[in-house]
Amino acid sequence: MKMPATGKTKDQVSSEIQEALANDADWRGGKIWSLVYFAGDDVADVLRDAYSRAIYTNGLGPGAFKSLQKFESEVIAMTANLLGHPDAVGNMTTGGTESILMGVKAARDRALDERDVTAPEMVLPITAHPAFDKAAQYLGVKPVHIPLRDDLRADVDAARDAITADTVLIVGSAPNYPFGTIDPIPELAALAEERGINCHVDACLGGFLLPFLPRVGHEVPPWDFSVSGVSSISADLHKYGYSARGSSTIMYRDRGLRRHQFFAQTDWPGGLYGSPTMTGSRPGGAIAASWAVLNFLGEDGYTRLADDIMKTTTALTEGINAIPELKVLGEPDMSVFAFTSDVTDIYAVTEALEKAGWHPDRQQLPPSLHLMVTPVHGPIIEPFLAALRDAVAESAGGKPADGSRAAFYGMLGTVEDRSIVRNVIIDFIDKLTQVESEVA
Ligand SMILES: *Cc1c(COP(=O)(O)O)cnc(C)c1O
Repeated sequence: MKMPATGKTKDQVSSEIQEALANDADWRGGKIWSLVYFAGDDVADVLRDAYSRAIYTNGLGPGAFKSLQKFESEVIAMTANLLGHPDAVGNMTTGGTESILMGVKAARDRALDERDVTAPEMVLPITAHPAFDKAAQYLGVKPVHIPLRDDLRADVDAARDAITADTVLIVGSAPNYPFGTIDPIPELAALAEERGINCHVDACLGGFLLPFLPRVGHEVPPWDFSVSGVSSISADLHKYGYSARGSSTIMYRDRGLRRHQFFAQTDWPGGLYGSPTMTGSRPGGAIAASWAVLNFLGEDGYTRLADDIMKTTTALTEGINAIPELKVLGEPDMSVFAFTSDVTDIYAVTEALEKAGWHPDRQQLPPSLHLMVTPVHGPIIEPFLAALRDAVAESAGGKPADGSRAAFYGMLGTVEDRSIVRNVIIDFIDKLTQVESEVA
């Protein structure tokens, strides 16, 4: 495909965009359970206004954009307070993955600087987000995965056994994505503190929701900077912070820990170059939108949304556990959880749900379905549970899964040679950027 020789009109472009968007998943109607965190039309208006006003600004140049310096420093200060340590420092990034990459880099470079570790390793539970494995691959850190206890939280004894003289980082999640459980952060952080290494808490999901749960009657295990030994935390603004996509935070207990994150180049003909995070140019729109939503919602807004979300979560987990064939895995600490079945094929249940227009996310190890509850799911509790009961009844009829995505996923989950599965995934990613009409 070539770009059009003469430009289309604004209306034409706009209507083609709308047409394409109309084919997307119905996230507003609560039919998907990941990817979008919608907090209402009023919040959407605030984000749109802030983002579009700041659309040409660039976080690479704090000198030119005093506005962004104000927005970012205030977002970071508000986040530090939420994370239990007003003196914490940090930076905004474009997402959880970048925040995690930075957390791993800072740990690696601290160990190189302080202890001359040149073959760095990090200890992480199997439930830690793949962004850590990505960071490990990109940054040359060896990932050492540890199992979970029966309660689906990191096995601290296994973590202790996995530590070597080359360990630079211990990871815990608050909560992890697959099961929504919070790892034993005080114990993991103590292991790190004893050895003078970093402990990173991945609160990409929980960072902007967990702080509000005690106010709505849900106690949460300790997970933030109030825990001694926690050195860095990732917390995503574009998840339960309800900001525009492209915004997260990476936070450190003190400036010394954060210095290992920064980059500076002194010998470039283009001038002296310094950059706090992985990206060069940084989207000012996302920074402004994050500042805007924190100020627009305030503590009472986030508390109200947390209350809604937890009521919906409780109704869903109780409703699912009331279906005899199904059970929620572990005791999720927040609004993210998985459920499975000991008696029926959960992937067949998924198939039936999909035929009915729902899109819960499949998981493996063990096979399960994953739900992430957001404000759009309040109104669909009953329709979803009804569809789930129907799907369970239908799959109990013994319909074989028919060469479809569910069967495919189930099959891949049992392939022992993971390099085959890896290649299937890489081939899939490779095809994604091909223009549909030009696919051979
Ligand atoms: C979403 C998520 C991440 C990664 O964040 P992105 O914004 O998708 O890069 C990391 N950790 C957890 C627990 C997450 O849910």
